Amino acid sequence: MSARSDDETLRYSSQARLPELGAEGQEKLRRARVLCVGAGGLGAPVLLYLASAGVGRIGIIDPDTVSLSNLQRQVIYRTSDCGRLKAEVAREQLLALNPFIDISIYPTALGPRNALTILNAYNLIIDGTDNFATKFLLNDACARLSKPLIYASVTGFEGQVASFSGSHGPCFRCLYPQPPVAAIPNCAEAGVLGAMVGVVGSLQALQAVQCILRGYAVPETKLSFFDGRTHQLSNFRLAQRADCAVCSQPKDQIRLTSGVEAQTDDVLWLDVRSPDEWQSGHIAQALNWPVQELERGNFPELQKSRAIRVYCATGLRSQRAAARLKAAGFERVDALELGLRQWTGALVTDTSARPR
Ligand SMILES: [Zn+2]
Repeated sequence: MSARSDDETLRYSSQARLPELGAEGQEKLRRARVLCVGAGGLGAPVLLYLASAGVGRIGIIDPDTVSLSNLQRQVIYRTSDCGRLKAEVAREQLLALNPFIDISIYPTALGPRNALTILNAYNLIIDGTDNFATKFLLNDACARLSKPLIYASVTGFEGQVASFSGSHGPCFRCLYPQPPVAAIPNCAEAGVLGAMVGVVGSLQALQAVQCILRGYAVPETKLSFFDGRTHQLSNFRLAQRADCAVCSQPKDQIRLTSGVEAQTDDVLWLDVRSPDEWQSGHIAQALNWPVQELERGNFPELQKSRAIRVYCATGLRSQRAAARLKAAGFERVDALELGLRQWTGALVTDTSARPR
């Protein structure tokens, strides 16, 4: 029996007055288990609004720590939080906001090995990430588990939001079949206003509440585009691709990869770290080519049309390297945004592929 205190009744009284919500809707929110993947610019408004609305159990997965450059858009953190784990700080903030809810945290990267176990404990998954690898992984895992997924992304003044059913298509791969080969800059690299991720994250929170009230059904999948310059919101109905590699498959045939692994057939991984770092562990079949070599004008002998994915430890050197390669005429270059920090596959220590 849920003995709701007077405090709780008063806390939710404004939203409980809505005919779409009421006491019954509030009880649905209390029973809901929602996982927010990423506690950054999108995750901050999502988490604050779901916690304040009384979503009974919230999971937060984020491996990163708060840094000064996050505070401009990640409004759940304070200056004094810098250096602390985002998941831990977010939990404290949410419990201070609403002590009537439960928060579980996972200060770890989401990968093919832990995704199904973590996601399975929740009714609804929210994609608050800013990298394509995790977006594809989340899509595939949600399709496998038949969990609804609320996707969003922000690039500059353009935002996108969509709710995917999980139990049937269309899915995120109907929209984007493969991770892009061209580099897609993340928020920090491309530049972003805090209010932009605030709007888009709030749209995700709104869709999440409505999805819970509907009993987790997604009757129609629409992609909403928000133009931050004109403030226009445009909705497009998405159709399922008959040849979608995920949602047209039987559930038990959906295999999880880290997203970026899915298209390694033709892609050459270029490790631009130092030979010492390379020896301590690298992606199998990669080629070690320190960024300094590229900056000296020494390039690997590869066809200019070859797809190359550059990586380093954290994503900084790989950006420099990708710029050099593109300037030298290599046409299909991208970089692992967060470097090996986002790599969830195995690393090998053989040295056979070292150049010279
Ligand atoms: Zn699909």
